[in-house]
Amino acid sequence: MNKIFYTLTGIALCLMAAPGISSAQSSGNSFRDRYYREGSYFFDDITKIRLPELFTIYKAEFGLGQDDDMVQTNNVVTDQGQFTTKYEHYHKGIPVEGSMINVIGSKGIAQYANGFLVTELNIDNSNIIPVQQAIDAAIQYVGATTYLWQDPLLEDELKAESGDPDATNFPKTADLIITKKRGEQYTADARNYQLCYRVVIHALNPSSVTDVYVDANTGALYTSQNALEHDYTATGTQWTWYNGWHNNIKTRSCGSCFNFWLHDVDRNIFTTKYGVNPWNKGSYNKDNNNNWVENDTKTASSAHWALERAWEYYINRHGRWGTNYGGKRVHVQTAASGILGTSANAGYLDANGNDNIYLSNDGSYPGSGSAGGAGYSMAALDIMGHEYNHGMIKASSALGSLGDLEAKALNEGYSDIFGNRIERYTLGTTDWSIGEATGWLVRYLDNPHNDIPTPSPARYLEPGYWNASAYHNAGGVIRKWFYLLANGGTFGGQTVSAVGLETADDIAYITYNWWLWSNVKYLEAANQTVHATVAHWGRCSQQHKQVVKAFRAVGLNVPIPLCFKIDIDGPVILQPSESAVFKVRLNEISDPNGQYSWDIPSSWNAVAQGNTLTLNSANSIESREISAKYTAADGTVSKASMVVHFSDVPWQPTNNMPVSPVSGQLELLPEQIDAINIYPNPATNTVTISIKGFTDKANLEIYDLAGRIIKSEILSVEKTNIDISGITEGIYLIKLNINGHMQTKKLSIIR
Ligand SMILES: [Zn+2]
Repeated sequence: MNKIFYTLTGIALCLMAAPGISSAQSSGNSFRDRYYREGSYFFDDITKIRLPELFTIYKAEFGLGQDDDMVQTNNVVTDQGQFTTKYEHYHKGIPVEGSMINVIGSKGIAQYANGFLVTELNIDNSNIIPVQQAIDAAIQYVGATTYLWQDPLLEDELKAESGDPDATNFPKTADLIITKKRGEQYTADARNYQLCYRVVIHALNPSSVTDVYVDANTGALYTSQNALEHDYTATGTQWTWYNGWHNNIKTRSCGSCFNFWLHDVDRNIFTTKYGVNPWNKGSYNKDNNNNWVENDTKTASSAHWALERAWEYYINRHGRWGTNYGGKRVHVQTAASGILGTSANAGYLDANGNDNIYLSNDGSYPGSGSAGGAGYSMAALDIMGHEYNHGMIKASSALGSLGDLEAKALNEGYSDIFGNRIERYTLGTTDWSIGEATGWLVRYLDNPHNDIPTPSPARYLEPGYWNASAYHNAGGVIRKWFYLLANGGTFGGQTVSAVGLETADDIAYITYNWWLWSNVKYLEAANQTVHATVAHWGRCSQQHKQVVKAFRAVGLNVPIPLCFKIDIDGPVILQPSESAVFKVRLNEISDPNGQYSWDIPSSWNAVAQGNTLTLNSANSIESREISAKYTAADGTVSKASMVVHFSDVPWQPTNNMPVSPVSGQLELLPEQIDAINIYPNPATNTVTISIKGFTDKANLEIYDLAGRIIKSEILSVEKTNIDISGITEGIYLIKLNINGHMQTKKLSIIR
């Protein structure tokens, strides 16, 4: 990295004092002073920070204590060694909701970190109420007349399909989680966090799906929220085929009974009616000739086709195999007016180990649902792409998971952007809108003022348009930013040159996955986008300048880059044996005849010629600073320097992103994946492993996070109790080998 610093404006200082991250900016040379600028850590000085050191030897620098652990949950490493990895925060072995750090770097060396941590937590987990008490309290709080588990048809269906006479939709268990009281007035301060059971309650009448957080110490209600990310509550007036005729949807048949189902086993996408198990082979959304043209199944087959295309966009364009990079199941559920209401709606929910996408009934076609309603099908490609993108966000930055309105607006805005992207990518369309197929609920990237039925702001806090609580509309600001960046244009006093749709796509995708966090604000997100762009395309690159202009056009005044100095371009992280080329780059000035002189470490075997330095070999893995001096014709001298590290950390590309078609790569059938149960979790002295459909035997190994085997056992019956009383508190990985099929699950031990 070069050594140019942004001017610290009042805005930047304000961001540095953001709650939740310990602040020590006044003292001289703390870790935070050295590395933290405008919302991110930049590890760009002479100290080499290896990834495994970040939350071990530097853990206290982040304000974390002995009871806090950062657990790596998401790690992508390219063949060249660039990594982006996400750490989630556990306190006394219990997840802290929304508290996370993303680390970006190369060859095992950390270069950037960002995110949001809840520090100074001191949760009492010694006195926890029984889970049943929490479930009872949650049901009492929701106070519905009937619940999902009280519908005998749905209960019978579940028992028949699972083959378990005791199966029920009743919430049998609930997860322990440390969470924040909902509402903008509660800051992300440790005092606003509490140990809770999260109980998800599906009610039928009145219909709702609610995350209920019950205080795990007292049994009192702590906080709650609507668990579903709702969309589209307007009333429709037209029906179209939307996305034309296609002959490529993946279905499944029973072989001899002349029925087909909307089950895409390769992509792990299952489309059923609401409340029906994903692996259901029964009578829902079936067709007898695999030709899905009848009105009563048109929404289901359209949605199924759309999810397959969205899935392909993510793997082909971004190398992402499902939201979790590991083929997580998508469960599309139609006729879901039970939770979405009777007008046309679509929604996303992460629950039961699936990405769930819901569609309400299509009012005009009696066979499509029981309740009927005023709306029409929402199964358009861009709308389904929007819902699936909510899953991508949930699995990465979790924007808005703590209820913060600006983060929710960003979540909706990015999902509109990628809904539009998926439609363009799949069909080659050129519109800048989402939902236009419905004709009555449309949001625009190019002009959010034209949104139907409610106009959206095109600028942050735009008078007459901005309404923070209408967060679908407030996403208009990031939509407009994306449009200006991709397409160019003059707006808000700025003229933006297009960087092109594909580059804008990369910038937005990289940012929302690895540079944002759960309660980020609009201006923070804008600054983070700038950081991401600089990290990937270079300071003062065309991309950097246009990203800044586009943000300033929509009223987000990120700093204007100082581009009149010189920079050195070149790899910052090298393998000890690697050779490399470094080049002096002049930004706003152009003087090929200037004079260059280099300051090179004595231990380097390197040759400097003009503005180019070639490193042939270095005889030490010590980090070094190199610098270059440029003398212009008028005698003006400019200097630039950068630190080069040599990696001494083993790294390898992650193998969980197949580049070839996924057929045959799924390790377990969906039925089997669902059949492994580990409970209770967190556990204290004993944990039960239950494997449904158990045939022969299975090998079980428990690993700690450093990869050491703590315990191993051979399981020979369907249910086994494992004694874990001798294992210390913490997070562990349980690896199960069942007839050569590997499964890994997380186990948390608390006492
Ligand atoms: Zn949405």
